Amino acid sequence: MREKDVFCKIIDGEIPCYKIYEDEEVLAFLDISQVTKGHTLVVPKKHYDNFLATPQDVMHKVMDVAQRIGQVSIRLLGAKGVNILTNCYKEAGQSVMHFHVHVIPRYGDDEGLRLEFKDKKVDQLSLPVLAKDISNELK
Ligand code: AMP
Repeated sequence: MREKDVFCKIIDGEIPCYKIYEDEEVLAFLDISQVTKGHTLVVPKKHYDNFLATPQDVMHKVMDVAQRIGQVSIRLLGAKGVNILTNCYKEAGQSVMHFHVHVIPRYGDDEGLRLEFKDKKVDQLSLPVLAKDISNELK
């Protein structure tokens, strides 16, 4: 049997958390390492390894709660922006292999947190083929 991950243990009440939302399928709680004030994780109660492995209806429910918490971050906490992000697989930074969405309120001077997209100066000529290949695979 698969060893329980830390979020399954939280869901099963074996590990405490600072819960902020719960319904039949979704749980949200404060991240133990608050990268900014109010940093929250939203998880499905049923185990799925990550976003990509989660059925659409469950994923929608998790994203719905993430959206609402993002709205509360602005309304209640005074955040000026919010990052909604989810890491899939360890190469993308996933450390807990249970689907979770980070809701990270941003206040404008968030020391130590920098999400940066650097332009890798790709060969622009390769982009039409790349776009077509991905587009075809989606059909
Ligand atoms: P990721 O790196 O995207 O897999 O994020 C995992 C997150 O889980 C990290 O931000 C951790 O701080 C957080 N985390 C790990 N253990 C706990 C815990 N017991 N309670 C709350 N958050 C946790």
